[in-house]
Amino acid sequence: MSGRVTETQVAIIGGGIIGAAVARELSKYKVDICLLEKENVCGFGITKACQGLVHGGIAYLSSRIVKFQGGKGLKDYLRHPFNLKERMGNIGREEYFALAPLLREEIIQPGRLMLAENKEDLEMIDLIKELADLQGIRGITVLDRKGLEEKEPLVHPKYIGGLFDANEAVVLPTSWAIAFAENAEQNGAHIIKETEVKGIEEKKGYYLIKTNNGSFKAEYVINAAGLFADEIADMVGTADFAVSGWKTQLLIFENRDYIHHLLCIVPHPQKGRLLIPTTHNSIVVAHTFEPMTNKEDRSTTKDKIDELMTWPQDMVPAISHKHLVSSFTGFLTFNTKNPSDHLLECPKRGFINAVVSAPGMAPAPAMAREIATMLAEQGLELTTRSDFNPYRFKEPRFIELPTAEKNAKIQADPRFGHIVCRCEHVSEQEIRAAVRVGARTLDEIKFETLAGMGRCQGGFCTSRVLGIMAEELGVSPLDLTKKGGGSYILESKTKELREAI
Ligand SMILES: Cc1cc2nc3c(=O)[nH]c(=O)nc-3n(C[C@H](O)[C@H](O)[C@H](O)COP(=O)(O)OP(=O)(O)OC[C@H]3O[C@@H](n4cnc5c(N)ncnc54)[C@H](O)[C@@H]3O)c2cc1C
Repeated sequence: MSGRVTETQVAIIGGGIIGAAVARELSKYKVDICLLEKENVCGFGITKACQGLVHGGIAYLSSRIVKFQGGKGLKDYLRHPFNLKERMGNIGREEYFALAPLLREEIIQPGRLMLAENKEDLEMIDLIKELADLQGIRGITVLDRKGLEEKEPLVHPKYIGGLFDANEAVVLPTSWAIAFAENAEQNGAHIIKETEVKGIEEKKGYYLIKTNNGSFKAEYVINAAGLFADEIADMVGTADFAVSGWKTQLLIFENRDYIHHLLCIVPHPQKGRLLIPTTHNSIVVAHTFEPMTNKEDRSTTKDKIDELMTWPQDMVPAISHKHLVSSFTGFLTFNTKNPSDHLLECPKRGFINAVVSAPGMAPAPAMAREIATMLAEQGLELTTRSDFNPYRFKEPRFIELPTAEKNAKIQADPRFGHIVCRCEHVSEQEIRAAVRVGARTLDEIKFETLAGMGRCQGGFCTSRVLGIMAEELGVSPLDLTKKGGGSYILESKTKELREAI
C-alpha cells in the first residue's frame, strides 16, 4: 500500500453505471472529483451482466406483477403510486435518449411484445392495458394472432395474441458506464482504476479513504460500490443494511433476424421470461433465479443452462441451438433496508449511500442529478463550469462510415482495411487507436472497439489483438492481461512449450 495521500473534494467509490454517471454529473461543476474503481475497466461489477433495458411504458407494471407474491389484491398493488425506483427509472430513461448523441453511445427502441397463450393471459393483458391507460402510458396496443405475426413472423403458433408496448429501449450498459467515465475524465474528473477501497477513517471535516493505491482525503464520499456497498458503509459504521439478491444466469444467441422486438411471456407472479434483441445483433435470454450465497460466484451451471436453452425455441422455434454464443452470470440485487426500492441516503455528514436495487441501470442519470442535489444540501458548492464539454470525444466506428469515407481512410492508412475482428468488423487501426487513448487490457479493447464481442467471442481475433497491443505498447504479448491484476492470457510461446515437453 503506497503512503501517498491525494486530496479531493468528492470521492466516488465504485465506477459502475451509478458511480460513473455521478462523476459525469459532478464534472459539470467546479469540483475536484476522484472516482475510485477496483477493476481496471468501469462497468465491470453488476453493470457488466445487466441485460440493458431502459424501461419505459408497461415495464414497471409488468415487473410488479412478477414480484407479486400471489393471493388477492393484485389490482390494488398495481395501482400503488410509483416509488423512487420507478420514478427515477422513468426520468432516467428520457435522459439516456438525450445523452446518446452526446456520449456517442447507442440506444435502440425495439419495443416490447408480450405473448399470450390462453384466456388467462388475455385477461392479464386487458388489465395491464387498462392500468396503462389510467397512467397515461402511450404506445400500447392489444394484438390478435395476425397482429403478432405482422410484428414477429417467427413467433410460436401457440400464442393467440399479445400486447405491444412501443416504449422499451435497450443499451449496452458497460459501454455506457465507460462513456460516462470518459466524458467525466475529459472534463477534469480523475478516474482512478485498480484502486480498491480497504478502509475509511472519519476525521474532523473529512474522510480518509485507504486503498491499495494510496490514501484519499475527501470532504464528501459517494458510496456507489454496488454489491459491496454494505461493506463500504460498514467502514464508517453506517451499515444498517446488507446488499442481498439473486444469482441469475443468462444466455446469448446470435440474432439471425429471428426477433426484432423484446419478447416476453405475459407476466404472472414469480414467473417471467425475456428474449432481448441487443444493440449488436444478438439475443439475450433472461434469466434464471437462485439465491445469491456468494458474491464472487460467477459460475454458470449445467442445470440452469439446460433450463434456459428451452426458452428461445419455446417462444420462437426457428432459433437454433447452433447459434448459442455464450452464457454468463449476474446478480440482481436489493438492499435489505428497503428491498423494493433504491437506498439513497445521507447517514453521516458528507457521506451518501447510493445503493440501487434492480433495475438500477435505467435510473443512473436521474440518480446522478439527485446525488448532486444532496451534495449541495450537505454544503458542497456547485458552481457551473463554463467550459464543460458534454460531448465525449470518440472516433466513429470504421464500419459505420459511408463507403467514400471508408475508402479515404484506407487510402490514408491501409491498416483501416485490415479487419482484425471479423464478427464485429473492427480494423487494425481502431485497435491501435484504442491503445493510444489508454486501453491496456483485452477487456478495455473489447468495450472500446467491440473486438471480441461477436459470434466467436474472440476465438479468431484474440491472438491478433494481443499482437497489435504488444507492438503498440512495446511489451511481450505474455505481459498482457484480460482485465489487469494477474489475469494473464498467455502462458508461454508455443515453441518454448514444445521444447519444454
Ligand atoms: C441479469 C441482470 C439484468 C439486469 N437488467 C437490468 C435492466 O434491464 N435494466 C436496469 O435498469 N437494470 C438492470 N439490472 C440491474 C442493474 O444492472 C444494476 O442495478 C446496476 O448495474 C447497478 O449499478 P451500480 O453502479 O450500483 O453497481 P456496480 O455495477 O456493481 O458498480 C459498483 C462498482 O464498485 C466497484 N467496487 C466495489 N467494491 C469496491 C471497493 N472496495 N473499492 C473500489 N471499487 C469497488 C465494483 O468493481 C463496481 O465496478 C440488471 C442486473 C442483472 C444482474
